[in-house]
Amino acid sequence: MGQNGLTTLPYLKCPKCGNDSWSDMRYLEDIVVYRELRRFNPKADPALVIASGYASGEGYDYGENARLECLACFKEFPLSDEVTIDFE
Ligand SMILES: [Zn+2]
Repeated sequence: MGQNGLTTLPYLKCPKCGNDSWSDMRYLEDIVVYRELRRFNPKADPALVIASGYASGEGYDYGENARLECLACFKEFPLSDEVTIDFE
């Protein structure tokens, strides 16, 4: 709802370059990933051995610091409160 109580459509617009095409934007969020520790035996080798691959990607929580990135100028900007998010 707009401030005047009338219906106004939410919109997406880059504050830097004015791009208002949602298909030229992408959704960014910060997600913590982890790797498992495999071995650590400092008497023989000071290396902490860590799995090269990330542990399962299942069960991610939603990320922090959600924002949009304009692909025309690469400016990142917050989502308007008027825009709701659905994941599919
Ligand atoms: Zn832009």
